[in-house]
Amino acid sequence: MNDSSNVMSDLFDLPSFLGEFSLAAAARGFSRHLLLETEDGPILAWERLGEAPPIYLSAGIHGDEPAGPLAALRLMEEGAFPTDRHCIVCPALNPGGLVLQTRANRRGADLNRDYNILSCQETVAHTRWLSSRPVPSLFISLHEDWETAGFYFYEINLGEDNVRRATDLLSAVSAHFPAELGPGIDGHLLRGPGWIFHRAEPDLPDSWPEAIWMAKRGCSLSFTFETPSKAALKDRVAAHVDGSLALLDRLPKAFTETDSMDGVGFMPLCGS
Ligand SMILES: [Zn+2]
Repeated sequence: MNDSSNVMSDLFDLPSFLGEFSLAAAARGFSRHLLLETEDGPILAWERLGEAPPIYLSAGIHGDEPAGPLAALRLMEEGAFPTDRHCIVCPALNPGGLVLQTRANRRGADLNRDYNILSCQETVAHTRWLSSRPVPSLFISLHEDWETAGFYFYEINLGEDNVRRATDLLSAVSAHFPAELGPGIDGHLLRGPGWIFHRAEPDLPDSWPEAIWMAKRGCSLSFTFETPSKAALKDRVAAHVDGSLALLDRLPKAFTETDSMDGVGFMPLCGS
């Protein structure tokens, strides 16, 4: 992989990554918080205070999905997080998985199915720290998928609907990947190409992903991005960056405006 970044490799180097992230975050005025020290490295959160409610971005909860952490690093380096808002970033939530390059943690647990039971030290430490902060109004979660060729995202929305926000997001990513067409993805019907409009309930009652825990806490709007793991890493990173920017650049207007479903090229619910 040829790229300018030292850490831009399919072989994810957690210590190098955390070192680079620390430098970039400090330069942007973020403070670092140690959530947990694991045998594979620390779980760290970065935070910059500002107007509440916070904006929160997470990545690296699945250790075989390196594009998310690398995109979080680039967003930090580029100053993408709004300076007037309280911002929280957890870019590498699964140190063991990132070191081993496995979806699960070192003990074989899928952390992103553990936010109800909280049986893992990582999720316990993560939720304890997040619970000490105000509930975010926007949560962006960066993931990857081995089974798709296009980009798709989950939206959990407890507030006002906004179709243009979703179409703008897909448009921003379209330079890198087409929207996954479906008719269904991962057992979900699509609201439109690449768009899973998910209720704030888990698919399996005892296996909550982070996004469900956030919704249950009261985070009114979340987006989980999924880039195709089989594509080039630089394109997956770029898709996560541009998709995140499409949401962050809409702030603060994005969370007060609503718009009509008319005239925005909206595709109605599809699938069988
Ligand atoms: Zn994932």
